Parts: sequence; structure tokens; C-alpha cells
Amino acid sequence: MSHSYITYLECSGCGRMYSHEELHTYCRACTSPLLPRYDLESARRRVDRDRVSRRERGMWRWHELLPVLTPENQVFLGEGDMPLLPLPFLGSDLGLSHLFVKDESMNPTGSFKARGLASAISKAKELGVEKVIIPTAGNAGGAMAAYAARAGMKAHIFMPKDTPHANMEESRMVGAEVTLVDGLISDAAKLAGEKAAAEGWFDVSTFKEPYRVEGKKVMGFELAEQFGWQLPDVILYPTGGGTGLVGMWKAFDELEKLGWLEKTKRPRMVAVQAEGCAPVVKAVKENASACEFWQGAQTIASGLRVPKSFADRLILGNIYASGGTAVAVSDEAILESQSHLARLEGIFAAPEGAATLAALKQLIQQGWLDPDERIVLFNTGSGLKYLKPA
Ligand SMILES: *Cc1c(COP(=O)(O)O)cnc(C)c1O
Ligand SMILES: [Zn+2]
Repeated sequence: MSHSYITYLECSGCGRMYSHEELHTYCRACTSPLLPRYDLESARRRVDRDRVSRRERGMWRWHELLPVLTPENQVFLGEGDMPLLPLPFLGSDLGLSHLFVKDESMNPTGSFKARGLASAISKAKELGVEKVIIPTAGNAGGAMAAYAARAGMKAHIFMPKDTPHANMEESRMVGAEVTLVDGLISDAAKLAGEKAAAEGWFDVSTFKEPYRVEGKKVMGFELAEQFGWQLPDVILYPTGGGTGLVGMWKAFDELEKLGWLEKTKRPRMVAVQAEGCAPVVKAVKENASACEFWQGAQTIASGLRVPKSFADRLILGNIYASGGTAVAVSDEAILESQSHLARLEGIFAAPEGAATLAALKQLIQQGWLDPDERIVLFNTGSGLKYLKPA
């Protein structure tokens, strides 16, 4: 029995192969993201899905399908196994009979970024990395700082100076060095990239290393398990860099190849963005295969303030393959939905999570949904992280 069935890294653009036993970032030939591949044939024969279900809770119970080769390198703070909660009051208010939220807010550091950074930092540790750097819209920095501390690494974080206060404080608290940037995450990314090259620090930017997406992929495994090894009909996902959307689609692919699904019907994937930063929505409207850089990005949902994802082609390809769509919502609609969800169901969602409810209301109006479909909203973080200091 292998602890991990990872076999190599594959370029999502040109198909070139790279070794998972060396430190890699993205494809040197075509600058596309690298995706880990596994020996799913062997895993299908040797790994029993029901045994995975009986293991102790947490993301690493899926270790055969994660990239870390030995358990000692798994950096664990309790991430994963977030609840799938029915939303009966909101559902009846909206005329939907099977509405759910996958509530990621109880992850370490209060957002689902914990999953991706747990995976990336663990693999970096395994490959001997001691210093890491990240440009962040907020929550990724806080999560990376926490996992780096737990792994005994030095963390450097570049974030826009108007990033939520909690993200700065949580990063500093665990010993990270925080640099505030006058600009957007794209400006922070440029500075962090230069710094990484100059100092030899490992850059953990979204999709510029191959393993964050693997942690996010586990959300797709959990969903399948929580729905009795079937998949829901529609998933609404707040999309910035797109790791969760791409990760879940990858998970569904792997589950199919493993033969773990009772039915192979895939969900329609809906990317939700803010009107003030909606490059994916614009591309979907134009049926484009890549995004344009969004000028002057602005929204209260800081995690969605990503003018152009490094994985734009993957995001769009997955949306089209799923028969899904992309929806932009205003900040006013986000705030209105945030209190709607809170009052009816007792869940104080992050603005990014609330955005999925605002998008759901648009899709209902357009008649895009069947009221009997199983619909999953993603609440990607806790609303508590966005409170302003007095
Ligand atoms: C980063 C973030 C997002 C966007 O996630 P991606 O996987 O980068 O698309 C959504 N919600 C919250 C709370 C985030 O921190
Ligand atoms: Zn390539």
C-alpha cells in the first residue's frame, strides 16, 4: 500500500511532464499551471472508499489521493470535513426544495484557504523548503502564515494595504513578515515574484505552484461522500483565483476514474464574481477561452478581487464542460444576502460566501434552475474575519 499514489505533474497547457520529487512552480515551456496526476488504476484496485470514510476526520484521510509521500510531512491544524448543511428556511423562502451550504468557515484561520495551504506547505516541507512567500487578497496569507509556523518555516506575505484587518493581524500573530502594498493583489504578486527570485524564497501564489489545488480538491471528495457518492446538480462557487472550482472538477474526474461514484452525472459549475471585478463573467459572456485583465478591480468581497487568475483557461474550460455559467453580483446584493442567510439560517457568511446567494437569486429569476435540483452554495469563510476594528 502506498501512502500517496501521485505519479507526476502534468502541464495543463502543453501536457509536458514534471517530477513530483523536485520542486516545481509552473510550466517553463508555456507558463501554464501544473496539475498532479495519480496512478488511479492501482488506487482503484487497492483503496476502498468506505475505509476512507471510516478514518479519523480531516483532510488527510484522503492521503492516497494527495501529493504528500509520508505522514510525517502532513502539516495538520484540523482542516477539512466541513459540514454540508441543508437550508430549509431559505429554500422555502426562495421556492427551492434541496438547497444546501457547504460551510467552510470552521476551517483553521476561518476560511477554506486552509485546505490549499495545508497541502502546499506540507509538500514544500517534504521537498525541503524553509522560506515561503505569498501575494494575497487576504485569507491565503493568514492561512499560509499559520501552516508555515506549524511547519517551522519563515513566511513572507505581500497584501494590498486595504486588505481586511484580521488578515494582517492573524499573519503577524503567527510570526509572518507582512508587507503592505499600495495596489491590488496583481501588484502584490509582481513584487512578491521579484522578491522570491532575488531571495530564493518559494512562491506559493495561486496556481504558480502545483499543490494548493489538491487541498481544495478534497471539497469535491467530501461533497460526493456527503451526497451518498452522488454529485449535486448545481454548485455556486465564489471565484477569485479559481482553485476550488478547478480542484472540485478535478476531484469529480478522479472519483469517476476510481469508480467511487454511484452516478456519474456532473454538477453545473457556476462561478460567482463581484460586479466590480468580473473577468470570468465577461469571458463566459463572450464565450472566450481566456480572461482579460480587469482594470480597477473593486469589491468588499476581498477574496474575489482578482483581476486575472493564472488558471483562467482551466476555470473557463471547466465551466463550459459542466454546462455551467458565471454570474456577477453587486456589493449591495452581497450585503443584503449576507443578512438574509444570517437571519434565516444562523450563518454569518463571508461576503464571498454571501455572493453565492445573491447569484442564486439572479439564476432563479432567469429560470436557469429547476426548483427540485440539489443546489450547493459555498460559504468559503467566516463573516467574523471582515469586522472592522473599533
Ligand atoms: C480566496 C477566497 C475566495 C476565492 O477562492 P479561489 O479559490 O481563489 O477562487 C473565495 N472566498 C474567500 C473567503 C476567499 O478567501
Ligand atoms: Zn506547458
